[in-house]
Amino acid sequence: MSDALRALAREAIEDGRMPRRDPERAWATLGMQTLCIVCHQIVTADDPAVEATFALLGTRPTLRYAHAQCYVAWEQERQTLHT
Ligand SMILES: [Zn+2]
Repeated sequence: MSDALRALAREAIEDGRMPRRDPERAWATLGMQTLCIVCHQIVTADDPAVEATFALLGTRPTLRYAHAQCYVAWEQERQTLHT
């Protein structure tokens, strides 16, 4: 895991794009030419990706979409921030 990627993941948590808590659901998928929430690059059809939903109080579940490696960076970073 590169430091740059973890820095991006930490930034995503700090500015609120990604929550710190566990997702309600997360599943592996393939790229759909959508922007990654963590690194802001397009997730192409060849990239492994993860979709995750988070329930927010008073709203519908919110979908987040990221490269698989960006999602892993977020998982690691939020564990670090918890401690
Ligand atoms: Zn990404």
